[in-house]
Amino acid sequence: MTRPSVREPAREIDVVHETDVLVVGSGPGGLAAALGAARAGAEVTLVERFGCFGGNVTVVGVEGMAWYRHEETVEADGIGREFEERAAAMGAAVPESQSLSYELDSEGFKVVADRLVEEAGIHPMLHRLFVAPLLEGDAIRGIVTESKAGREAIRARRVIDATGDADVAHRAGAPTRKTPREAMMAASVMFHLAGVDKAKFLDGVRADPQTYGDWKVGEGWTVETDGKEDALFSPFLRKPFERAIEAGVIPPELQTLAGTWGAVHDSGELTYMNLIHLKDCDGTDPDDLTRSEIEGRRQVLLAIEALRRYTPGCEGARLRNFGMTIGIRDTRKIEAAYDLTEADVRGEARFDDSIGIYPEFIDGYGVLILPTTGRYFQLPYRNLLPRRVKNLLVAGRSTGGDRIAHAATRNMSCCAVLGQGAGVAAAVSLASGKPLDAVDLGAVQKELERQGVRIR
Ligand SMILES: Cc1cc2nc3c(=O)[nH]c(=O)nc-3n(C[C@H](O)[C@H](O)[C@H](O)COP(=O)(O)OP(=O)(O)OC[C@H]3O[C@@H](n4cnc5c(N)ncnc54)[C@H](O)[C@@H]3O)c2cc1C
Repeated sequence: MTRPSVREPAREIDVVHETDVLVVGSGPGGLAAALGAARAGAEVTLVERFGCFGGNVTVVGVEGMAWYRHEETVEADGIGREFEERAAAMGAAVPESQSLSYELDSEGFKVVADRLVEEAGIHPMLHRLFVAPLLEGDAIRGIVTESKAGREAIRARRVIDATGDADVAHRAGAPTRKTPREAMMAASVMFHLAGVDKAKFLDGVRADPQTYGDWKVGEGWTVETDGKEDALFSPFLRKPFERAIEAGVIPPELQTLAGTWGAVHDSGELTYMNLIHLKDCDGTDPDDLTRSEIEGRRQVLLAIEALRRYTPGCEGARLRNFGMTIGIRDTRKIEAAYDLTEADVRGEARFDDSIGIYPEFIDGYGVLILPTTGRYFQLPYRNLLPRRVKNLLVAGRSTGGDRIAHAATRNMSCCAVLGQGAGVAAAVSLASGKPLDAVDLGAVQKELERQGVRIR
């Protein structure tokens, strides 16, 4: 059906700011990109549509930065690891239940991110939504934002798209791909509880410990592992919802209710409740987002009712808060100069232009492989370079790759490796006066190593 249309008049807008490196989006990818560039000596601006930095950590409530980490896991360290350690030092993280990592406090991390941005001398620009690129031929030279101040322009010498949805690359004309809606990873409305009896809850977990093997329950929840994961402890919850369905407390079609809890606190909070799975939600379609936000909140209340009835320690639980926006796992990915493949992430790929490494951790599209071994792959710089648009790098979950590669690189600590690589490359390219697609990779790798990143 052809929709009616209107013509938007052209207009002059103010250039409110000029910068060397402009990072759009401040999740694990964008925050690491801004910090990497600033620490490499560039003048950096960080634009974000919401009122805090942190992306999914702070706006969705995703707290598991490295829940995959075991004794043998080999990783890049760098800024991703620093997020955990700095948060722990500032009282904004607790030890995570299934791994050798910290669980971030999604509220406290807002302040951690503020401090990191401030200390690095990054110019913060919150409450600005990127809406359009400023293009000269095929090169991006800045962006247009919308805010309470209306439309504003920001000029930049280098741009990094860390919106998670490749918004900048897409609007600038770079080719991107999306998984068909019906095959996309589910979206989730996340929530946190208050009023939980911690001791009783943990007694219940110890009395009936769940494993990754328990994730394999059939309809709605099929997971392929390579076997070594199956007997390991997982903070998994499904039984309360099965019982609630049997008892008619929640409707039988909610077979998808299941998932993990994050941390239980002395104060009675049970956080990072990752239990709601909403199909057919394309995170770049506001109508899908509207429907899924409302349906997700409805399901959360049913899930809480089931937890109150059938989970020891949760009898007096109540909703503390939802994430301030729905959690989206899977939207646009750029067609990059090199797209990562399943064979790369499962086969310990090595690249001359490596900007960091990532352990063999795959979580998504029905596959779960944990890095309980020392296996890892390298991340190539070309993975950040979009086709067709110059002067732009893409960092975070929208870098190029197939489905299984995405199930690895979408993880927050990998987004941080990609972001730090992008930030350092932008700074090195500026310092040497070379374009991003001809940057001196030896100098990029040297600076990344100086910043504590393992690249080989
Ligand atoms: C429910 C859920 C649970 C998950 N669990 C885990 C987990 O346990 N561990 C793990 O490692 N990963 C997990 N993930 C995946 C992980 O959170 C994401 O893949 C990761 O955060 C992506 O990082 P990013 O920096 O690319 O994007 P994001 O974290 O999405 O950050 C993007 C930022 O850009 C901003 N932005 C977007 N568009 C614009 C625009 N047009 N203008 C200005 N700003 C914009 C956003 O507001 C946001 O701050 C989970 C994801 C979801 C949804």
